[in-house]
Amino acid sequence: MAHHAAALIDIVQITRIPGFNPGPMTGAGNNTYLLSGREPVLLDAATGEAGHLSALAQALGTDGLAQVLVTHAHPDHADGSEPIAARWPDAAFRKMPWPERDRAHAVAWAPIADDELIPAGDGAVRAVHTPGHAPDHLCFFDEAGGTLFSADLVVPGSTVVIPASRGGSLSQYLASLRRVQALAPARMLPAHGGPIDDPQAVLRSYLEHRQRREDQIVAALRAGTRRPEAIVDRLYDGLPAALTAMARESVAAHLIKLREEGRARSDGGEWELA
Ligand SMILES: [Zn+2]
Repeated sequence: MAHHAAALIDIVQITRIPGFNPGPMTGAGNNTYLLSGREPVLLDAATGEAGHLSALAQALGTDGLAQVLVTHAHPDHADGSEPIAARWPDAAFRKMPWPERDRAHAVAWAPIADDELIPAGDGAVRAVHTPGHAPDHLCFFDEAGGTLFSADLVVPGSTVVIPASRGGSLSQYLASLRRVQALAPARMLPAHGGPIDDPQAVLRSYLEHRQRREDQIVAALRAGTRRPEAIVDRLYDGLPAALTAMARESVAAHLIKLREEGRARSDGGEWELA
């Protein structure tokens, strides 16, 4: 079914292939996307669950797998690389380099550059470097169809973790949200959760949410709250213990952004407005 007249127009045929890896960090599990056609391309490798591999094999049918494009090195997106390489040895594996993380996977990574146009299905996707959640984070934009494969840039109904101590940057994340706003995708297909049919509204609410959070943190500093743990207590009253670590990362990400902007300073774990 891949080689018919539709190949003449730049249609990217998309099949969602679930990762079969539900859990506290992945929600219902990861979405991966197969772009079928002349150049069968899988976006993200998930975790190598047997269910993912068999669903991928079924979706490919008699087609080979040409490329696997990994959006970032987090385990739920990259750990499936080796099992997929074992089953489809001719597939190329590509991502934006994050060398200390990429080494964990015994596949021959080929680098993707920002803005690169990559043949996929019967069309192409453009790599859009969108760091913040992770330094190597890529979205892939099917410009002809208006679909942005948004990976972990947004999570419908939730917020995105900015792991300040492990390669996350709130300043970069906000710039990435604005970059995608300017691309004006018609819809976004995230790595967690369902399709997003109103990207501009979601992107705007994400930016507003972070601005509100920043305002609260500035207010806490102005009120003399100096330690990040105390700011977490003040902002996230009654937070379940399991989520405290994430809240701490989020507050740290905001404080670092304020320091980068010259609006706050830190000394021995205590923070104040500059
Ligand atoms: Zn991630």
